[in-house]
Amino acid sequence: MPYHYLIALGSNQRHPRHGPPPQVLRAALAAMAGAGLVVEAISPIIASAPIGPSRRRYANAAARIATPLDPPALLALLQSLETRFGRVRRGQRWGARTLDLDIVLWSGGLWHSRTLTVPHPRFRTRPFVLGPAATVTPDWRDPAGTCTIRHLHARLTRPRPTPR
Ligand code: ATP
Ligand code: CA
Ligand code: CA
Repeated sequence: MPYHYLIALGSNQRHPRHGPPPQVLRAALAAMAGAGLVVEAISPIIASAPIGPSRRRYANAAARIATPLDPPALLALLQSLETRFGRVRRGQRWGARTLDLDIVLWSGGLWHSRTLTVPHPRFRTRPFVLGPAATVTPDWRDPAGTCTIRHLHARLTRPRPTPR
């Protein structure tokens, strides 16, 4: 298996068969394994407040996987799973969704094409990504800097010094 990836999972809509968002994520992890991805580590599932227009709370998790697929091929697979889980793309960013699967990092460093940027451009400021990620890939480094995931997470959650 030449490549390793960190995948962020999110859901804020129940699925008619699988149930509420945490159950959607469990089913999605099983579907990823069923699609041939080697799921090496899974974080706890956390609850987080929504960003953007949707008001429903999210379930979030992270997984470390191994696969020979390159980033565009993996994205295509993840998007087909999102569709299989009933996600409808309405053209609205950050709208409610049954399943969101993002590529956060991969073992190949930086990737940039028209439809895909790895590392995920917004992961460094998202506690709902870094919290779960810190449990599955604490020692992976941001290839655009020098920080580990553990460090990025600590920096984000550290209490700020009170101004005098
Ligand atoms: P955000 O990207 O801020 O988390 P989102 O997950 O709601 O928002 P989507 O509507 O799921 O955004 O994705 C929009 C597009 O982002 C996808 O069609 C895909 O081409 C692109 N994209 C770019 N980089 C990535 C990445 N690292 N992982 C997943 N999708 C990506
Ligand atoms: Ca996302
Ligand atoms: Ca996405």
